Parts: sequence; structure tokens; C-alpha cells
Amino acid sequence: MGAFDWFWKAMGSSSERNDKASKSIVSSAHELIGSFEQRDDASLAAAVRETVEGGEVRDKAAFLAILSVASSRTLGMTPFEVQNQAVLRLLEGDVIQMATGEGKTLVGAIAATGYALTGRRVHVITVNDYLAQRDAEWMRPLVEFFGLSVGAVTEASTRRERAGVYRRDIVYAPVAEVGFDHLRDNQITHRSQTVQAPADVAIVDEADSVLVDEALVPLVLAGSQPGTQATGRITEAVSHLREKKDYVIDTEGRNAVLTDEGARRVEALLGIDSLYSDEHIGDTLVRVNLALHARALLIRDIHYIVDEGKVSLVDASRGRVAELQRWPDGLQAAVEAKEGLDVSEGGRILDSITLQALMGRYPRVCGMTGTAVEATDQLRSFYGLHVSVIDRAQPLRRFDEADRIYATMEEKDAAIVEEIAHLNSLGQPVLVGTHDVAESEGLAEALHGRGIAVNVLNAKNDQEEARIIAEAGDVGRVTVSTQMAGRGTDIRLGGADEADRAQVAGLGGLAVIGTARHRTARLDNQLRGRAGRQGDPGLSVFFVSLEDDIVATGGAGEQVTAHPGEDGRIESGRVSSFVEHCQRVTEGQLLEIHSQTWKYNKLLADHRAILDERRAALLDTDLAWRELAERSPQRAAELGELPAEVREQAAREIMLFHLDDEWSEHLALMDDVRESIHLRAIARETPIDEYHRIAVREFTDLANRAVDRAVETFNEVTIDAEGAHLADAGWKRPSATWTYMVSDNPLAGSGNSFISGVANIFR
Ligand code: ADP
Ligand code: MG
Repeated sequence: MGAFDWFWKAMGSSSERNDKASKSIVSSAHELIGSFEQRDDASLAAAVRETVEGGEVRDKAAFLAILSVASSRTLGMTPFEVQNQAVLRLLEGDVIQMATGEGKTLVGAIAATGYALTGRRVHVITVNDYLAQRDAEWMRPLVEFFGLSVGAVTEASTRRERAGVYRRDIVYAPVAEVGFDHLRDNQITHRSQTVQAPADVAIVDEADSVLVDEALVPLVLAGSQPGTQATGRITEAVSHLREKKDYVIDTEGRNAVLTDEGARRVEALLGIDSLYSDEHIGDTLVRVNLALHARALLIRDIHYIVDEGKVSLVDASRGRVAELQRWPDGLQAAVEAKEGLDVSEGGRILDSITLQALMGRYPRVCGMTGTAVEATDQLRSFYGLHVSVIDRAQPLRRFDEADRIYATMEEKDAAIVEEIAHLNSLGQPVLVGTHDVAESEGLAEALHGRGIAVNVLNAKNDQEEARIIAEAGDVGRVTVSTQMAGRGTDIRLGGADEADRAQVAGLGGLAVIGTARHRTARLDNQLRGRAGRQGDPGLSVFFVSLEDDIVATGGAGEQVTAHPGEDGRIESGRVSSFVEHCQRVTEGQLLEIHSQTWKYNKLLADHRAILDERRAALLDTDLAWRELAERSPQRAAELGELPAEVREQAAREIMLFHLDDEWSEHLALMDDVRESIHLRAIARETPIDEYHRIAVREFTDLANRAVDRAVETFNEVTIDAEGAHLADAGWKRPSATWTYMVSDNPLAGSGNSFISGVANIFR
């Protein structure tokens, strides 16, 4: 722990204080349960209302007691004391750390019910559609017991369904859907078209994944715009480049840069003068960089897969196909060109928001995860959130073995196969966490070669993911999965039905093997947490080689002298600490990247908030009409005959059209600015200051221009009893829109994503 000792101590003591207060409430609750058990359902539902006063749960002990009784009646589960403590912390607005399998779903639902009883609307944010649906259905009887309503929004929900569900008291939804609906709601021209109802509280499940790992992932709403990029010729030219001669990859493997020799080669192949001339710097050079990035840094089956003629990204932090994710348009097209696929139609970004900005819109955010403590710094600095650690209901019976370290990757791989074969020969179930699809498949092949049946769970078959992972604890089962696949799924010993529970428990429970340390200790602990649920026995061990990425990049060329045994194994305290050191260095780099990237995002987020306010005023009042009438009294007088409603709506549509149009232009422009700042390497100013200066100036212009253009349109366009005929005048909103998450730089790995995946301007 070293330098952070003081910090962990401070953490401990503040958690202890919370613990004391909540423990006494929880034990009073326990004493009340007996009397509430005597009451019938209706009387309980009435009694719970009395525990609430002035928008707060006041009588917390009675509240917990009633919810406990209701939970056992409706769900057949009586919350453990630690679960009740967790509920209290959620009601205080903390992120709670609670181990995998300790029952966070129930905790979240009880807290959501508590918030809903105080009249607040709650979004329970899940990591995917499957869990939103599962949890809403699972918890429904408890919520409805109190006369409250609950529902789930998933990707498959229609507009109408969404509008209905968002009006319920408690809404389960994956974060992407909430964000997309928010973006789409920012394109409407009449209040009645709103889909989302504002929510007061977000309870975020797997909080570290959503709030930290994916914080800077932008959600994008794009509209169709015909025209494609000609990337074929450039891709062809770039395919002739040689690593180290024509381009170099930086030590962290995040960036590929043309050398002078490489630039000359590309110029010759494309038959142009200079890539850096004014003519080419903004366009050709950007495309060359995209093609080079696609060629040199993005590897098929690691960073993306090709399936049915389409490129699908592999989400680095979850190791699964990210259906909703795309790279920024240019890069997506470059990868498609590299794979010889049809290059997808060009679009225009209408709006976008990062998860961090989206979550910042909730008046209150709280959440739960098995690994919050390791994300304490980030949760505090990004969201001002406090972490509370909740004890386990039963003591942990998992044995976490020290890393097994090998000199080379090859020796490590051989040792992994040996260990799995050994555990398998005893019948102990094994769950192996790998880092990418290619590794999973390699390992499965090696195990097949040894006659061992393997369930491979990876980005290529994620529909069955939950079902397969639920069986990972069965006798003799070997399951290989990429990183966090199946987060949220319960792994029971002896199979999902626990038929052979006693046998598997006797064998030592589920064994979890990590094939390399992750970029953050938090992700290591997530993997370990798959074993030892609810006091089950279990085992976890990580295999490490000195050739692993994290050791190579984190160590940045530092050497350790090691004396491997015959099988390549190194048993040395010094080498173990070196591996820890490498991981800490990597974590530090990720934090730094995040804070740099957020600087770029923060300003856009602030501008977006101003825009939101303006939009709301235009939608909810006659502001548009008043402003236009003031700027163009004559035209206003001409329209005096029309009913006020029609006039006001026409003015509203005109104002909103130009506002949204200008905002979309602004986003595109700021994107270009980010790229050109990098490419031109402005020496006078630091890039971020330059960026800020331009962003502020452009945003002011945007606001003025949007009104000026609206006045022009107001004067020119036909406005009659049917309203403003904007389309006739060529002012048309895109006929089709689509949404996606941008996974900018998969190479940056779990823990962060770049807003610009191509050119790394952040240093
Ligand atoms: P987590 O999200 O913390 O990993 P889950 O909410 O998925 O855990 O719950 C894990 C398992 O524990 C589920 O099978 C659930 O039914 C069970 N469980 C949770 N709370 C209780 C309880 N109070 N009593 C009995 N079983 C419980
Ligand atoms: Mg869970």
C-alpha cells in the first residue's frame, strides 16, 4: 500500500462512522419486524407511507422493517442486515461496495422504492438490456406491493413503450438507452413529443463500470446525410508502409505516426506534392492518419470482429461485441476499407453527450458495485461521490493465491493449460478470464488438444452469455471468458439449479484464473469476485509473464533481474512488487488521460447545458415568437391574423431548427479543431488553451447566428394556418437518425476512452 496508507486509513475510519449509525438503525429495524409480520399486505403498504415525511425517509428503522417483511412475502428473500445497511447508504447518496453475489439487486430495489415513496422518480441504471429486463421483472412484485409502478426500457422498446415506462416511478434501463432518449428528446419541436420524463435519482448498478470506465464514452445521435468517403486509394497506399521505417508506434501502443520517409512514400503513392500543404493538411492527411491507425493499431479479432460483412467493435473493458458502438465516422470507414467491406453511409452528428455529462444531469446519483474502493478517487473527483464499504453477510471463503509469474509468455501459457487440466481432472469448475477474443480461442484450442471440453464465452456469442456463465460453477465445467463478460450473472456452485452443490463445495468451489493482470487492480478484483459468492468456497489466481503488455508498458523499459526455474517460473518477492508497480503506473496513466480528456469535454458539456436551457425555454414558452416579432415587427404584423398557437409554434420550429443546426455544425467544427490543433502542433499556446479560446468564441457566434438565421427564415418562409413550411424552403431535419456509442480508442483499454481515437492530442 505504501504511500497510500494514510488514505486507506482515512477511508476506513469514515466508513466506520457510517457503520455505527446504520448498524443501530438496522438492529432497531430487526426488532420491529415481528410486529409488522402480524399485519396484512394493505396495512403494510399504508404503514410505509407514514415512515416518509418532507421528501425523506424519516423513520428508517420502520421503513426497513416493512420492506423486509414485504420482500420476504413477495420475493421470498428476507434482506440480510448488511443489505439493509447498504440500503441506508444508498438513501444517503453513496456508492456502496458490496461483493459479487451479496444481493445488490435487492438492495437497489429497496432503495429505489424508498426514493419513490418520497415522490422522486428513480432510474436504476444497468450495464445492459438483459439485466434491465431481468431486474425489473424480478423486483416488480416488491415495488407493486406498495402501489408503485416499475418498468424496463431496452433497445427493443418502441417510442410509445418508452414514453409509458419513463412515466413510471422506477425505471430500469441501460445507460445508453437513457442517453439516446435524452438526445432524441433534444430534437423535438413540441413539448408533447417528449419521450423521457425527468428523473430525480439514478441508482447505478456496476457503478464503476458506468461511472468510471465508460465515463468519457460519448453517446451520439446522428442523422443521415448522403455521400461517402473515398478511402480506398488511401488505404491502398498506406498498406505499403513498413513499421519502424515509414511509421512508428509509440511505446504505449496508442499512436502511430508517419516518419518523414513514410510521408514521402505516401505522397509518391498518391501522386501529391506534400501532405502538409494547406490543400491536404485538413483532409488527405487526416484520412491518411485514419488509415494508418486502422492498419497499424487495430487488429482484427482483438479490437474488432468482422461478422456478416460488418465491422463490430470489441468493447475493451467488457471484452464483448459492443453492438451500439462505432468509432468516429472516419475511423469506422477506414477499418471498413481495410477489410474490403462496403464503406458505410456518411452521416452527420446531430448531438452527443458523454456518460459523465449525462450522469451529471441527475440531482442525485448513487450506486453499487463489487469494486468501488479502488475507484474512490475517480468517483469523488468526477461526481463528488463517497464510497461506503458494506461487510459481507458471510465471511469470504475464497482463497486468493499470489500471482504465478513466468519469464516468458510461452511458459506462462503452458502453465495455465497445466493448471486448468489439473483442476479439471479433479472435477473442480474453472472460470478463466482472458483479455481478448483471440486469446480465448487460442486457449480453448490448447485445452481441446488435451481432451478438455471448454465453453468459450466471448464477443462472438453474447446472446447465450448469461445462460452459459450461470452454469460455470457446475462439476468439471471449464468456462473461458473475456474480461467482464457476464457481469451481473449469478454463478451458483453445482450448476444454476445447484444440483451438485455439495460436491463442488467439497472440491473447493469455483476456481477463477486470470491469464494476465488487468490495467487496473479493480478489474482484477472484479474477476476474482466471480468466485466465493455468499460465503461459498473458491479460489483465484493470476498468471503473469514479464512479457505481458501491462508489465512491458507499465515498466517502461525498466529491467528486473529474475532467476526463473526450469519451467520459467519466477518466485521472488521483488519481481512480484515490480508487477504491482507496473500496474500502478498504468493506473496513473489512465487517470491522467481521463483528466486531460475531460478538460476537452467539460467545456462542451457546459455549452450543452446552456443549450438545453434555451431549448426548454423555446419549447415551453412563447419566447421564440416574442424574439422574432421584436427583430421583425413587420413580418409579425403580417402574421397577426393567424391564431396565436399556430404563430407561436411556427416561430418555435424556426428557432429550434437553426439552433439545432448550428449546434451540430459546432460539434463538427470542434472535432476538427481538436484534430488540427494536434496536426499543426501550435507552438505558441498549449492545445487545451487554444481549444478553449476557439470553443468559447465559436459558441458565442453560434448563439447569435442561430437567431440571425431564424429571423431570415421567419421573413422568407411561408407561414399559414398549417404552420411554417420549412421543408419547402430546404430546411429539413434528417429523415433518419441513428444512435451509437463511440468507443474511441480501444487500445486505451479498460478504464478510459478517447474522445478522439485517431490523433492523440492530449499530451
Ligand atoms: P450481486 O448483484 O450483488 O452480485 P444478486 O443481486 O445478483 O447479487 O444476487 C445474488 C444471489 O443472491 C441471487 O441468487 C439472489 O437470489 C440471492 N439473494 C440476494 N439477497 C438474498 C437474501 N436476502 N436472501 C436470500 N437470497 C438472496
Ligand atoms: Mg448484480
